[in-house]
Parts: sequence; structure tokens; C-alpha cells
Amino acid sequence: MEAPEILLDARHPDVRIDLGMARAEFAQRAATRAFADQLAAIHATLIEAREFPEVFVGPLAATMPDAVEFAERAAVADLAMRLFLAEQTVRAQDHEASVLIGRVPRVWSALREGDVSVPNARAIAEIVDTLPEPAWLPFEGAVLTPATTLAPARFRTFARAARDRVHTEHLAERHRRRVEERRVWIEADIDGMSFLHAYLPAETAARAMAHLDRVATALAAAPDETRTKAQLRADAAGDALAGVLGAAGGGAAGATGVTVMVTVPVMTLLGVGEEPGILAGHGPIAPDVARRLAAHAPSFHRLLTHPVTGAILDLDRTTYRVPADLKRRVRIRDGQCTFIGCGRRAEDCDLDHTVAWTADHGPTADTNLAALCRNHHRLKHNTRWQMTQDAATGITWTSPTGATRGADPPPF
Ligand SMILES: [Zn+2]
Repeated sequence: MEAPEILLDARHPDVRIDLGMARAEFAQRAATRAFADQLAAIHATLIEAREFPEVFVGPLAATMPDAVEFAERAAVADLAMRLFLAEQTVRAQDHEASVLIGRVPRVWSALREGDVSVPNARAIAEIVDTLPEPAWLPFEGAVLTPATTLAPARFRTFARAARDRVHTEHLAERHRRRVEERRVWIEADIDGMSFLHAYLPAETAARAMAHLDRVATALAAAPDETRTKAQLRADAAGDALAGVLGAAGGGAAGATGVTVMVTVPVMTLLGVGEEPGILAGHGPIAPDVARRLAAHAPSFHRLLTHPVTGAILDLDRTTYRVPADLKRRVRIRDGQCTFIGCGRRAEDCDLDHTVAWTADHGPTADTNLAALCRNHHRLKHNTRWQMTQDAATGITWTSPTGATRGADPPPF
């Protein structure tokens, strides 16, 4: 949207600056209103999908008991493909809309007018989602005005304090519920590094940190130790979690009972090339790390690749079987679930026959197999989502409402 043209003398910097300020304010209000519109549209469309499941699962399947659930999933995937968003984001936006509309309607109106910023409205939605019904109205009363004047960080602090003032439930009860959400997850970073996060009860996290401190302090006492305290804590944590006992530092060698796939270019393995290896589910890792893992880490499944074509040369001969080889090749080719936008690792996916093996005599060949996570596998079979595959153009998805897209390129 263009700002209105103003006939002022733009040779003066103060005029240009005033204009720039006005444009920024104008654009932000427009973007805020557009965001609210997007939430409203997603929310309304998913209500329609639940009410008229036949649009997404077809007239025959619409009478089945799980039709509404599958229609909703197909519609979420359809919106995600059209908006270039993750399905999770579409669901989150639908949920955000229903929380704002249903629990804090005055905040929702202010967002639609562009009077409350997007970050503040989302903070409100996130917090009010954790409040019992009797606290919704007092919470909205407490935050409505500050939400229109405070910057996001200040507002979050204010809103968290307001949450505690209006909460009707005891902290012990809230904690008991929150503990259910404990989890561990990995996040890939650049330059061959990853974050490993753990969401834990505060006392468990504190005990773990104290333990790492003790280990790091003990190791730091060695006369030839050059690692910093932070590095020692990180090494101790990594080793403990990778199942390496008694050694701090040195990485994953010796871990037992787990298999991680690592692809190593053959020239790198021989030490005459410096092409990076590929760690499954992560991406490139440094050549010396790849060499070390391929040489003497029993828990790593190594795959050698041809120096020119990148084709896989060695599929671990000890487990070689034709179907296993084929499955592995398809999983490596796809890298992730082949549904649009899905990030699930191919190793954790089903291998789906694009043309059904039993009903339509589709061959068990890599041009007729694709990695699909359980969720998208079921979506393909239970809704009007369709997939085709051919050697030249690869995989193509068509949504129940007719949008078409080629599968995402493999991640690595
Ligand atoms: Zn998937």
C-alpha cells in the first residue's frame, strides 16, 4: 500500500523525515489490520471445513466417523501450502484467533483496528490461553490499555505479572499440569552445530546445572586443561546425554545402542578431499568430524558417496538386502517427509507407494516410493489430497480445493 502523495518541499530533510515517520506508522497499522484479517479468514475457513467435511474428504468419506477430523487436517494443509506456512503455524493462528475472539473480544477489536500491535496481541493470546475462564475478563481489563502503549518486551513483563494477580488457581496445581509438557528437542544451527533444548521442572534443571558445574570444576583442576568452564560444562552435558560414560570431550564415539546416519564423500574419507559430510536430520558437518565418525564410531551408520555423482556407493554391507537398500535409498533421497512444508526426518517416516501396490499394482521401485510421515500418509489416504510422481518432474501434490505444488526440494 502506498502512502498518500503529499505536496511538500522534499528538499528539506525534516520534511523527508516527517514523511518517512508517517509512512512507517501508516504501514504498521495496515499490516496489523491485515494480520488480524488473516487470522479471521483462517479461523472462518476451518469452521467451514468442519461443518462441510465433504469438500475435503469427498461425499463418500464424509459419512465416516472421523470425517470432520480428516477434513480439518486436509484444510489446514491446504491453507499451509497456499500461505507458504507450516501446518503447525496455521493451526496456531486458528487457535490464536479463537482465543482472541472468544476470550478477550475487546483486544481482538483493537487488533482489527490496528490499535494493538501484533506482538502484544499474540502475547495476550498466549497468556490468556493459560488462564481459567473466571480470570479472562479481569486479565483483559488489566492489559487492554497498556497493550496499546507499551513495547513488546515491557508489555510481556507487565502481562505476566497481571496473569499472576488474576489467576484463580494455586501455583502447585499449575505446575503439576505444566510438568506434563516437559520435553527435549533439537534445533540445527550453522557451521556444523546444533542446540539441544530441554524443558524441565525448574528444580531438575537446577540440579542438572549444578552437577555439570561440579564436573567442569573437577576437570578444570587438571594442570593441562585448556578448555573454559563453559566448554567443559558443554562437553560434560554432551557426553552424559550421548551415553558416553567417564569421558568428557571427544564427541559421540562409544555411545551405545543408537544409530545415527552419516554420509561421507569417499574422497573426504580417504583424506584427499575436504567436502563436508552430511549428518542425517542436520545437514553438513566438518570433513574431519565426518572422517572420525566413519572410522570408529559404532553407533553411526556410514554411507559413502561417489566423488563426482554423489551417488551412494556403500550401503553398509552387513545389513544389505534389496528391499532394505531400496528403502534406505528412498529415505536418503527424500531426506524428509515429502509433504509440502513437513520437516519430519525421512528415517522416522513410512514409505508410501505413490500408486498403491495392492489396489493398482504400483511397483516397489524408487520412482513409486516416497517418504511420508504417519500424519501425512494418513492424510493422503483419507482425504482428497493427491500426489503423483514421475522420474522427470518428481512429486506433485494437489490440494482438495485444487491448489498444486511440486514437493519441496530435499533438505541437503
Ligand atoms: Zn509429513
